[in-house]
Amino acid sequence: MAEITKDNVLHALQKIHDPARGRSVVELDMVSGIVIKDGNVGFALEIEPNEAEAKAKEPLRKACEEAVMALPGVTSVTAVLTAERATGGGVGGAPRQVAQGPGNAAPGRGGPAAGPAGLGGKPELPGIAHVVAVASGKGGVGKSTTSTNLALALAARGKRVGVLDADIYGPSQPRMLGIAGKPGSPDGKKLMPMENFGLKVMSMGFLVDEDAPMIWRGPMVQSAIQQMLTDVEWGELDFLVVDLPPGTGDAQLTMAQRVPLAGAVIVSTPQDIALLDARKALNMFRKVDVPVLGIVENMSYFACPHCGERSDIFSHGGARETAEKYGVDFLGEIPLDIDIRENSDRGRPPVASSPEGPQARCYLDIADAVIAKLSGDATKTRKTFPKITFDN
Ligand code: ADP
Repeated sequence: MAEITKDNVLHALQKIHDPARGRSVVELDMVSGIVIKDGNVGFALEIEPNEAEAKAKEPLRKACEEAVMALPGVTSVTAVLTAERATGGGVGGAPRQVAQGPGNAAPGRGGPAAGPAGLGGKPELPGIAHVVAVASGKGGVGKSTTSTNLALALAARGKRVGVLDADIYGPSQPRMLGIAGKPGSPDGKKLMPMENFGLKVMSMGFLVDEDAPMIWRGPMVQSAIQQMLTDVEWGELDFLVVDLPPGTGDAQLTMAQRVPLAGAVIVSTPQDIALLDARKALNMFRKVDVPVLGIVENMSYFACPHCGERSDIFSHGGARETAEKYGVDFLGEIPLDIDIRENSDRGRPPVASSPEGPQARCYLDIADAVIAKLSGDATKTRKTFPKITFDN
């Protein structure tokens, strides 16, 4: 089989011209981080760090992939758009990935997963004391429900709280917090957050039509989140609860790197499979050096609305065991409860609608644990967290 070399790749790319600048991507020194493994080739194309540019350069990225794909012996190609050249730059440097094509089977994906190198890109959020992420290894485990009620429980403890719905693929905070309408911008620069139940809330759900199909590419996701962090008039907050998109892919990892997180709460259901995903989420935060505040077991047991009896339908207790095994705290368990589902889904989350009820109590306990963990200065808190040491 023909050997593929960096020179071959560059030679193929030499023919691809950036129409905006009329020169080859190689001449323009846009190509970096070429990785070749067997028939798989990966490389990055350096672009200006903005959304419009990422969109405009997509055909160019595709053309580059096709040109390299045509080389003998090449079986897959992944070109990523990167907005930051790594130290050393040029061919052979390791780019930080900001966008990636649909075929992501190739090597060279050393971007966000490469470790805490990206920590430098976090925005300053001077008015916000603690940014807390709520994450899950997969969708449907109740991450958003937990975010909403945790935020309300923190507010019930007298804290000033904001909610950033970073789950831009399926924003649910507007519905769960019963907020409709569009945020205003009195000065034309910053958006005012929406408010209900004493929380300040920002969600992509306020900005785009709920039913409009949205295709988000990496850099758009990043800039949407970044803007919701920095271009929103949050004011002074004790806590900003960030409802992350489910999963542990590159988008989530980059987000965990770019958002200045004081810590993360991981939501899991008791089933083994979900816990496997929870372990991936733990590992993701470990990689980017974000302290895991603990695990919440949601839908932990079934609370019968008629007789009040408790049934452990999903072999309850797995999250506690996982937490113990990996040296993170178990923050509490929330029952599978019809009231939680019905009220959360119609904008009356239990902590707001029945603050004295047993469901609210579960969330208040979790909020107390989060407050206790994050009281004191953030650096001190960080150092007291155990380092999780496992690979998965
Ligand atoms: P995720 O954010 O993980 O995708 P959601 O928070 O949107 O999950 O929850 C998925 C569904 O499960 C929603 O209909 C929600 O009301 C319901 N749900 C979440 N937690 C509970 C619970 N403890 N008991 C009953 N239903 C719940």
